[in-house]
Amino acid sequence: MAARVLDGTKIAAEIRAEVTGQAKALALSGLRPGLAVVLVGHNPASEVYVRGKVKSSEEVGLYSEQHTPGESATTEELLELIADLNRRDEIDGILVQLPLPAHVDAKKILLAVDPAKDVDGFHPMNVGYLSTQRPGLVPCTPAGVMEILKRSAIPVAGQEAVVIGRSDIVGKPVAMLLLNQNATVTVCHSKTRDLPEVCRRADILVAAIGRAGMVTRDYVKSGATVIDVGINRITDRKEFERFFPGNQAGNKKREETFLARGSTLVGDVHPEVAEIAGAITPVPGGVGPLTIAMLMANTVKAAMLRRGLKQPELSQV
Ligand code: NDP
Repeated sequence: MAARVLDGTKIAAEIRAEVTGQAKALALSGLRPGLAVVLVGHNPASEVYVRGKVKSSEEVGLYSEQHTPGESATTEELLELIADLNRRDEIDGILVQLPLPAHVDAKKILLAVDPAKDVDGFHPMNVGYLSTQRPGLVPCTPAGVMEILKRSAIPVAGQEAVVIGRSDIVGKPVAMLLLNQNATVTVCHSKTRDLPEVCRRADILVAAIGRAGMVTRDYVKSGATVIDVGINRITDRKEFERFFPGNQAGNKKREETFLARGSTLVGDVHPEVAEIAGAITPVPGGVGPLTIAMLMANTVKAAMLRRGLKQPELSQV
């Protein structure tokens, strides 16, 4: 039987509606949570992401501003900008869009962000809060993964969870969140032996690898929940055929888009996994939409935590 498709677009819309309600309630007491996005230089992908973040902030009723220092901005100049944003009370969230130009000391910049305004949850202080189960700001994509599980009524406590990937941005925080919710967690990476065998233990399998369609059906236990964090662009016709064979129903529309655009987005999980999994997130339309929704939720959360107000009622935020 085909897997249940976990609709990230719908879940993200629910969260954005909740955040809009929270922003409205705060507005009654004269508070408008504010997000500052810092985009250095002209990376086209980053420009698209930042536009999405600013647009979404406006839609949910947050204040937002963009800072766009040029490609040649120095570490010192950026540190000054961050210090200024740290000082301004109307700014609750500071997001430095990565990657930064190579000559900038990215670690120094991220460390300079006030942990109370670190809506990306990357500051070592927030990493520590997460690993010691204290209230803090949790990275957006991992928090989104947990919202998908929760809102799809997929149990976590006591379940075997396997995470493929150990990055600071996705793999490690996802593993920590699953552990904090009492899953039995295994974290895999490029040196893991017998990866498919380890993955087949999973009741919940999270793929955060960055390799198109690497997770095939032999990685998946029948009935498992598969969360695909990967976002990979494929442009090669043969590669497209490997994902979406022309003779299979439902692939026609995808093929038309691929031919028109010359590319399509796929996850780390091969579509054949849907034949064996119990539930699966699609790409696009799975984890992706949750990332911006959780950024909105984190900005409201930061505004409330900074002022000692009670936290909003989103599960992981
Ligand atoms: P990284 O490149 O930082 O980490 C990838 C991880 O996968 C590493 O831990 C690496 O292992 C592991 N890995 C790579 N190859 C293999 C392999 N053959 N077998 C087992 N493990 C392997 O990527 P990110 O964590 O930043 O991102 C992962 C994916 O998620 C990407 O596709 C990215 O685009 C996507 N992403 C999606 C987001 C969203 O909003 N949906 C947000 C952020 C990322 P090792 O540590 O040993 O090198």
